[in-house]
Amino acid sequence: MKKIVFFCIPAHGHINPTLEVVWELVSRGHQVWYYCYNSMREKIESAGATFISCDEYDTQQNLAAKDSTRVGKDLAFSTKILVDTTLALDDKVCQEMKALKPDCIVADSMALWGKAVARKLGIPFVSSTTTFAFNRHSAKIMKQGLGDLMKLLFAMPKTSKQVKRLKDKGYPVNSILDIIGNDDNTHTIVYTSPWFQPCSETFSEKYVFVGPSIRPATAEIEKKREKLIYLSMGTVNNDKMEFYKSCITAFQNTDYQVIMSVGNLVSTEDFGELPENISVYSYVDQIAVLKKADVFVSHCGMNSVSESLYFEVPLVMLPQTSEQKGVAQRVLELGAGIKLDQSDGAYVLSAINKILSVDTYQKNVKKIATSFRNCSGAKGAADKIIQVCNRSI
Ligand code: UDP
Repeated sequence: MKKIVFFCIPAHGHINPTLEVVWELVSRGHQVWYYCYNSMREKIESAGATFISCDEYDTQQNLAAKDSTRVGKDLAFSTKILVDTTLALDDKVCQEMKALKPDCIVADSMALWGKAVARKLGIPFVSSTTTFAFNRHSAKIMKQGLGDLMKLLFAMPKTSKQVKRLKDKGYPVNSILDIIGNDDNTHTIVYTSPWFQPCSETFSEKYVFVGPSIRPATAEIEKKREKLIYLSMGTVNNDKMEFYKSCITAFQNTDYQVIMSVGNLVSTEDFGELPENISVYSYVDQIAVLKKADVFVSHCGMNSVSESLYFEVPLVMLPQTSEQKGVAQRVLELGAGIKLDQSDGAYVLSAINKILSVDTYQKNVKKIATSFRNCSGAKGAADKIIQVCNRSI
């Protein structure tokens, strides 16, 4: 029996894929401890891990879901989060790790304090990456080239004070990139397929692409018309009333059934009386909807895109953040969707019409879906973790 410790930030998109892995490890007879935040306690415990709350040690930064997207991109911000959280957790985690003697630490690529502690105590380490894996080749393809690199270089001097704070507490860190950068020597689990990951052939054999983790549907959606269009801008930056209304205007006289998930930042009551073919909800069972949908109009969060492609649904893409733009770029390259620069219903409708009238989108989507289904999934991720525990790779 192995002892494995997970660390993650409080974001559903980062925790969800790890839960199946926890479940797999526990059902093989291993023990799992999971350091995270109270809002995630229930789902972590139901996967079979012992939950350990970090909330008490997170008073300074109150890391919210919207901040989590900045970690890893905004170097000064990432460094502050990393150092504050690592030092706040230092006594507790180091003491507990020394007592527990885990065989391996698995940390989300944004819960950088997990990697820092593993380094400090010499514990075998696995990085868990719920977005695309990142190296200089994939960065080029994702067009996160020069601009980000310059920002990184300018921010470096600001981080040296923070590096010193870590060093003073015994962390063997020479540059913040030791912790933030994911290199070829770090065992890494990536929750996508080698086909969907840009430049997957440029990553070392320490990387394993296990495919997306798709939760089961908990509801059944009634398909009322021949074509079902689903629209969601995700769960974070979804305050887009004007856009939703322009879509309602564009879709109202079509033959499409339209389901819109608009989040809690706008009130569904403010939409007034809706056309017969359109329904608006604050939240839906997205898996249940995608099982029946023909096109997904999406902000291109990694989870939404993976779910869509898994169920062979091509995308109309309206990415907002640079991460979402990277994901959209890859979908575009593989011919599985149309990317729009304008958030306007009329453009969305003509993109939907195009997708439904040309079968190459469907063919390309199927190819990606097949690549997902051919991945080793949670079992492959658990195998990797156990190999690292055994130091056999
Ligand atoms: N989701 C859902 N119902 C909704 C909206 C979203 O179940 O009405 C789920 C969706 O299936 C996905 C996650 O919320 O797993 C959104 O994650 P993503 O990475 O796509 O975007 P974010 O919300 O983090 O921007």
